[in-house]
Amino acid sequence: MPSIFTRILIGEIPGQFVFRDELWCAILDIRPVAAGHALLIPIHETQYVADLPAPVLASLGDRIARLTVAVKSVSGASAVNVVINDGSDAGQEVPHAHLHVIPRFPADGRKLAWPAAPYAEGELAAWAARLRSAWR
Ligand code: 5GP
Repeated sequence: MPSIFTRILIGEIPGQFVFRDELWCAILDIRPVAAGHALLIPIHETQYVADLPAPVLASLGDRIARLTVAVKSVSGASAVNVVINDGSDAGQEVPHAHLHVIPRFPADGRKLAWPAAPYAEGELAAWAARLRSAWR
């Protein structure tokens, strides 16, 4: 069963496109956090960013940079949040990898915050070592 984004890409259901090329597209989110909230979506359907083909990953920087510039210039936002919900436990509702570009304004009151706490003694370095050993 194709994702809702693939269905938009193949024209089965409507979408408002910002751009579309051979690897990526951007559409407006149908339920925006703020007007101009856009989604950068790979044409290749896979749930997780890490499973995207190498050429798609290699071109991500260019597309996200250009989309943040477009969203900021049209919305007048002073900043954007770029958010990836990579997996359902992280809030991913559509299992087709995508990046949110959300316009932000001074004191707009929106929060992308979660409770955070410092590491226990020695755990910061221990976690860095674990992650270095998992780096591929
Ligand atoms: P997620 O929670 O998976 O990171 O975000 C999925 C996003 O897709 C949500 O912000 C939601 O509003 C948006 N979305 C879901 N269905 C549609 C749709 O049919 N069209 C568009 N344009 N956006 C959608």
